[in-house]
Amino acid sequence: MSDTLTFENFIDGKFLPSAGGRWLDVYEPATGAPFARVANSDHQDVYAAVRAAVDAGRSWTQTSADFRAAVLNRMADAIEKRCGEFAAAESRDTGKPITLASTVDIPRAISNFRFFAAATTQFASESHYETGRSINYTLRQPLGAVACISPWNLPIYLLSWKIAPALACGNTVVAKPSEITPYTASLLAEVAAECGLPKGVLNFVHGSGASAGAALVCHEEIKAVSFTGSTATGAAIAGATASQFKKLSLEMGGKNPTLVFADCDFERTVREVARSAFTNQGQVCLCGSRILVESSIYESFRDALLAHVSQIQSGDPESPTTTHGAIVSADHFKKISDYLKLASEEGGTLLCGGKTRLENRCAGGWFINPVLIEGLGNDSRINQEEIFGPVASLIPFKDEQEALMLANQCRYGLASSVWTRDINRAHRLSTQLETGLVWINCWLRRDLRTPFGGMKHSGLGREGGWEAMKFFTEPRNVCIEFDHE
Ligand code: NAD
Repeated sequence: MSDTLTFENFIDGKFLPSAGGRWLDVYEPATGAPFARVANSDHQDVYAAVRAAVDAGRSWTQTSADFRAAVLNRMADAIEKRCGEFAAAESRDTGKPITLASTVDIPRAISNFRFFAAATTQFASESHYETGRSINYTLRQPLGAVACISPWNLPIYLLSWKIAPALACGNTVVAKPSEITPYTASLLAEVAAECGLPKGVLNFVHGSGASAGAALVCHEEIKAVSFTGSTATGAAIAGATASQFKKLSLEMGGKNPTLVFADCDFERTVREVARSAFTNQGQVCLCGSRILVESSIYESFRDALLAHVSQIQSGDPESPTTTHGAIVSADHFKKISDYLKLASEEGGTLLCGGKTRLENRCAGGWFINPVLIEGLGNDSRINQEEIFGPVASLIPFKDEQEALMLANQCRYGLASSVWTRDINRAHRLSTQLETGLVWINCWLRRDLRTPFGGMKHSGLGREGGWEAMKFFTEPRNVCIEFDHE
């Protein structure tokens, strides 16, 4: 264990072990073996980090937008310079293919910093003039110290999506990355120190959600919580903080419908539906896991999708040719495996994929080849519960009305995608699908200016673009009456 990596907290500009001296093992999903340990923090570490953030806030809130933008841009440049190192870390920690980490996760983290650096120099608030009487303007000020809590599936992609706007708006941050994937957050702390971010402005407290996370969200001095993770944890945070009336942004689970109509561009739709179901081993909150297909093309679409998906095989995430990596943890591997059993018990047919073993370095890893299921009703557990793995289910529908009904019959409402050449239908469905994001003839095409988030049990509030800048500032109405003469 001599070359075991250690990920410490980063508080007030210093790397520190947890006050209680406790650690958690960090596993490499491709091998199933621990390769690092991470501080398992408790309220003592959280209090120290919040204290540092509050103290640092006194001067950080007074900095100019240009100054903050310059620091964020330096951070983006520093990540870009170390892109290979960040990508290797992300891949090792999560089990995602190195190619995915280096073409999506790390570039997106860089873009998040650059985007919000630019945003802070452009953000403006409204003023309203009432002729001859008064003028109102909206003062937008930073909130203070805020918490940013992120999950394991897109570790730095999502953490930077929160940290960048929070800092851009003049807040200070205590971040709690997932304890399952803390590696790139630790690298980001190094970057913050190198780039001259004043100490205490950005702090990282690692550790379990029950201990570090719960203490953080309930801390009186934390003015807002930006959370991405499961619906159960989002509900726990909303409950625990209810009496404190904090600002909350909750980005939670999904069970996203993909609506395939007979008039779609068939070949392209097959490819993109497979990508939408299985990217990152199906561990993206936006993955389309309920594939609704118009009955007239159901068999031909199923067969073409099956032929395409059967070719996607698990491989060592380190290999540049791998497109499908490992499942993030032993617990999550078991959860998905249990759902595969349930699919059969509920009467479904597994058309392809399932648990698989690799050789050599990856013999102990957690791998599941993409699974397609058919024969289950929309109300089955498989089609209603978030599995969050490489498992998608096919469901036929007879017409647009039935497709819409099936899509909306779900407690989640994060994203949907619609595949059709009928522009009228596309617009019609966009107004009726109960999801925060609707993609027409595309999937996961992201413009950082757009509002991001879900409806129903998938989310509360929106992030991205001006929505994030609004979330991380307090709007105050100032009304000035003046003599007109
Ligand atoms: P999780 O809810 O278990 O954990 C997310 C984070 O919350 C972790 O950092 C965890 O330590 C922390 N946490 C846990 N309990 C806490 C508590 N009581 N108080 C404060 N913090 C606590 O989620 P996960 O398993 O890491 O991630 C998978 C989930 O994330 C899936 O449901 C997925 O859909 C969702 N997700 C949603 C989005 C989105 O944008 N809507 C994006 C990615 C992932």
